[in-house]
Amino acid sequence: MISFLNLKEINVRYKDEIAQAMQDTLESGWYVRGKQYHDFCREFAEYCGTRHAIGVGNGLDALELCLEALDLEVGDEVIVPANTYIATLLAVSRMGLRPVLVEPDPGTFNLSGRGLSDALSPKTRAILAVHLYGRLAEMQSICAFAQENELYVVEDCAQSHGAELNGTRAGNFGDVSAFSFYPGKNLGALGDGGAVVTNNSTLAAKVDMLSNYGSRQKYVNEAKGRNSRLDELQAAILRVKLKYLDEDNDRRRDIAKTYCDRITSNHVTLPEFPSDTATSVWHLFVVRTRNRELLAEHLKDRGVQTLVHYPIPPHKQAAYSELADLSMPVTEAIHDEVLSLPIDPTMSNEDVLRVCEAVNAFTS
Ligand SMILES: *Cc1c(COP(=O)(O)O)cnc(C)c1O
Repeated sequence: MISFLNLKEINVRYKDEIAQAMQDTLESGWYVRGKQYHDFCREFAEYCGTRHAIGVGNGLDALELCLEALDLEVGDEVIVPANTYIATLLAVSRMGLRPVLVEPDPGTFNLSGRGLSDALSPKTRAILAVHLYGRLAEMQSICAFAQENELYVVEDCAQSHGAELNGTRAGNFGDVSAFSFYPGKNLGALGDGGAVVTNNSTLAAKVDMLSNYGSRQKYVNEAKGRNSRLDELQAAILRVKLKYLDEDNDRRRDIAKTYCDRITSNHVTLPEFPSDTATSVWHLFVVRTRNRELLAEHLKDRGVQTLVHYPIPPHKQAAYSELADLSMPVTEAIHDEVLSLPIDPTMSNEDVLRVCEAVNAFTS
């Protein structure tokens, strides 16, 4: 079976380095916000090209902290793409804000500039742009729109570690940005983890304070903060894996290129391979097909594991029954038709070609 993402294979490549990092942490006697944490934050900020990075507990917390650090009031509206993973909406709702859904561009699965003005109201305060599947949203138009209308921009970078537009990496376009280090992400810990990055020193200090009990100085609490911290062990492991992230992203790009060149079946629509100035880090390779169940079954019979990201759009989830009446035809079609092919930096070239052949053999 060609697995969708072989996490064990991905992580055992660095077995000795990870073991050493864990041993060092064990023997340091310091397990939260110590040397590993501070070194990782510095290295991750450097990787993203941002001035600041704050390690936090997970990606959802990172998103919540981004919103919490901005000057927003209960009931304010935040524009989000309708086809995102539900965590994006949950962060908005959990901060007492209202998510306003906008249809994505069906070619990129991401927000473009279109649809934003229809979503605008006197209560709109921010756009939460998601770089879904590893590809950047159209940040130039989104940021121009935000500037015209005095809105904040937050980036959900949980699927886009290292993705670039004209040499600028994800996390630099908005006011403040969130990353996840969930094990299956392009940069994944051996457990939960997340980060907030920003070029704004005031916002960085605020996120740092809010994530650590509302405290800048030990036992002095200026806000009703939370405890959401990246621990020393995960920071130490992420420092090892960060060194190889670009290599892994390049390998993902090679696999995606092969899929785009070699999959010729007219039963599937391939994702666009973006131009050189806008790189995708191919967190997922998502095709569209009218016969998803049949194609998935066909591939399974040929030893290829596939997944669906995602089967149900947020506005059709029981958790968002208040949005159930929205009509989002682009998003609903996406959720009915998408199928994710294996894309794993440890896949062999042979396996990549086997996936292409298996897809091409599908006759519906
Ligand atoms: C994974 C993910 C999150 C949440 O990250 P966690 O670390 O699992 O909390 C948020 N947004 C998107 C788009 C994601 O893919």
